[in-house]
Amino acid sequence: MNENKMLEFARYFHDGVISAPYALGIKLTLAALDKLGIKNPKIKDLFVISETRHCFMDGIQVVSKATYGCGDLIIKNYGKLALTMLDKKTGNAVRVTVKSNFQERMTEISNKIRELFEINDRKKILEITKNFGKEILDMKMQEICIVKKVKITDNSLIENASIKHNEFLCENCGESILDYAVEEIDGKKLCPVCAKTDKYYEILE
Ligand SMILES: [Zn+2]
Repeated sequence: MNENKMLEFARYFHDGVISAPYALGIKLTLAALDKLGIKNPKIKDLFVISETRHCFMDGIQVVSKATYGCGDLIIKNYGKLALTMLDKKTGNAVRVTVKSNFQERMTEISNKIRELFEINDRKKILEITKNFGKEILDMKMQEICIVKKVKITDNSLIENASIKHNEFLCENCGESILDYAVEEIDGKKLCPVCAKTDKYYEILE
């Protein structure tokens, strides 16, 4: 992998800022690839489970090309800065976690940022997260994370992510709808909006 090119893209994707969680997503993903012996991942090669949301996930996507949109990245929201990566070709998987002494440093910085939020010093917050992000990118893998070989025991995670869905037309509004969202009311196949079970917008024009 051309790491400079990847980092250039990562910067572009986040408007020039590689924040600490974003940098950690990048770094932990690189560690997983390293352990799996994958140098240049292609789209659809991997399946990744992220154990938190936030910018951490964007770091995973930028490096691994396992994207949320393609169904190759899912979230198990344990609130942990951790990920599990499966090499679909070999079936090998690894889980990467943050070392506890590094986590202490993270907490220190997070507390500082929390204080700055209270006085709304956005400039300083940006400076701190940018500097810490850079520091993370420059650190050695073994200073930050632990990589362990694992076996994914819940196969439904992978199966559900790759299921292909059938399309229907809502019999009321005529918009296309995927099977998992279809609701049958009085023998009609309807979208959630027409079935009046969910609606998040109002048409203005
Ligand atoms: Zn409809």
